[in-house]
Amino acid sequence: MSELHKFLFDGLPVRGVIVRLTDAWTEILRRRASNSTSGAYAPELRDMLGEMTAAAALMQANIKFDGALVLQIFGDGPVKLAVVEVQSDLALRATATVQPQVEPGSTLSQMVNAKNQGRCAITLDPKTKFPGQQPYQGVVPLFDDHGHPIEKLSAVLEHYMLQSEQLDTTLVLAADDKVAAGLLIQRLPMAGAGNLAGSMVSKENEDQIGQNESYNRIAILASSLKREELLTLDVDTILRRLFWEESITRFEPGELEPRFACNCSRERVAKMITGLGREEAEDIIAERGDIEVGCEFCGLQYRFDPIDAAQLFVDAVQIVSAGTDAH
Ligand SMILES: [Zn+2]
Repeated sequence: MSELHKFLFDGLPVRGVIVRLTDAWTEILRRRASNSTSGAYAPELRDMLGEMTAAAALMQANIKFDGALVLQIFGDGPVKLAVVEVQSDLALRATATVQPQVEPGSTLSQMVNAKNQGRCAITLDPKTKFPGQQPYQGVVPLFDDHGHPIEKLSAVLEHYMLQSEQLDTTLVLAADDKVAAGLLIQRLPMAGAGNLAGSMVSKENEDQIGQNESYNRIAILASSLKREELLTLDVDTILRRLFWEESITRFEPGELEPRFACNCSRERVAKMITGLGREEAEDIIAERGDIEVGCEFCGLQYRFDPIDAAQLFVDAVQIVSAGTDAH
């Protein structure tokens, strides 16, 4: 079963989260493999998307936020888009768009940052928004301060956390065809709770960057975790091996159970079709006989025959005229 645990280092300004996605991850891979159009992910892309999925779960669990955390990479190589969405209750889904194929042995840069123009975006989309409220989004490039491409997703995200939260963060990520796992260690903010929207950006925190000895010691221990260990060992063994000299308090996992879930619906697809406009929808029907839209995340197919499609626009017109009548 997939699991996620949060913990604190007793008496030290350091916290951690560890995630191990098994069934949730293999479900994402299974659905992709059974999509006859796209087929299974290339191993290099699979591992990158798995690391993104583990990282997004860690970041969602690490903030106090009610809504969706969306981690995206907009690539300039064969991978055009990789996206992971994690809800507050750790329901998650992920997908990637590839054109053409990923070459065997491709690095992160070769997949998503071939011309050094790839971008990584983190979006916090609150569940309840006040009118006109836009989701918060932060974007970082896939190169370091000297313009050199970064070859590890963990380094891209550590950079992001330092910029947005002014907090030292260490991430270890790994994925294969069975497991997507990650460990996050973070220095606690001086006061209050940090969040990805940067509310803790303060002089005090900035001064502490790289200076906290307790954090530095624990970060070195965390960084010694090998990919193979993260993929094969259970959570208890990993924490014991890494931090056997530290005193750790673990939180009850509570309702935090990472699992695959897709929130696509026929209503949303219907909205998308009406968004295309009547003319375009009629063109598609004239050409193909119906409108079929597949969900990229779960593979579900939504089919609208000519009558369904016509009905969508009748409904849309009724809604518009009802709105007009009211004025
Ligand atoms: Zn879906």
